[in-house]
Amino acid sequence: METQFNQYFDHLYNLRVGVVGKGSGRHERPHKPVMLLAVLDLMDLGEIGGNRIEWNDCLRDRFAKIFEVVRSSNDKVTPENPFFYLRSEGFWQHVGKAGKEVLVEGLSNPPRKSDLADGIFHVELEAGFYHLLKDRKKRELFREALISRYFPDKQDALAELTIVRHHRVAEVSAKEVIARSAAFRKLILTTYDHQCVACGMRIRLPSGITMVDAAHLIPFSVSANDHPSNGFALCKNHHWAFDRHLITPDHEGRWMVSSSLEHRRSSGEAELCALEGERMLRPQEEIYAPSMAAIEWRASRLVGD
Ligand SMILES: [Zn+2]
Repeated sequence: METQFNQYFDHLYNLRVGVVGKGSGRHERPHKPVMLLAVLDLMDLGEIGGNRIEWNDCLRDRFAKIFEVVRSSNDKVTPENPFFYLRSEGFWQHVGKAGKEVLVEGLSNPPRKSDLADGIFHVELEAGFYHLLKDRKKRELFREALISRYFPDKQDALAELTIVRHHRVAEVSAKEVIARSAAFRKLILTTYDHQCVACGMRIRLPSGITMVDAAHLIPFSVSANDHPSNGFALCKNHHWAFDRHLITPDHEGRWMVSSSLEHRRSSGEAELCALEGERMLRPQEEIYAPSMAAIEWRASRLVGD
């Protein structure tokens, strides 16, 4: 059960959301996480009783309300898209009227609203996922995971929106913290292809074990932000120095080194000092590059400056 919880957690961090826009407007599509948040809300409200998600006004309204909060200007309110495309995630299954899997290939692509007319088919969640979601506390953890991963800067606005606001899960067990940090780690390591952004070191064994860590820029305890723009990959040595505010990138992605380090003192310090002015490795997707707010937060804490 615990493993399943971790797997779904991981899956929610790695939804195939797609990326749209150009330049500074480039962003991940919010549709899939918004649809999942809408479903969680309807479960809280008792609007979804069993494992049966209907395409109805209730779902569309909830989707629209959340979407309004998180959208970028060029995003379109199209709940039919995630209701359809979430099927590619495996846990979201379309079931036709007769109780069989509906032949969704017959629908136009992307689907028109008429394809999804009320009652033609509904969605069933994978049994294991639904079972976890029935537990209110787990549901809340999944909600927090979706928000911290996809909409970390909209946490307050989303909390206000939620009609039935449960208290933030006060007691999160150690296991659940591990699930969240494992999901973040996987996301960051993939984004940086297991390379340290300071020295480029990459050691990955055939078993998949890697020596590189995923580091938060603003710690999760402060930011509740697991978006990839709040993290990067560091080898053990650079992670240690980073956590102690001895090294940090500037707003142009060049390393700054604490004046408390002295290159003549020891070989380790000399190597850290040599980072000064070097370029930080960039992520594979530029939209996951460290956010300016996080960079500034770090820069203001560099020791000795
Ligand atoms: Zn390194």
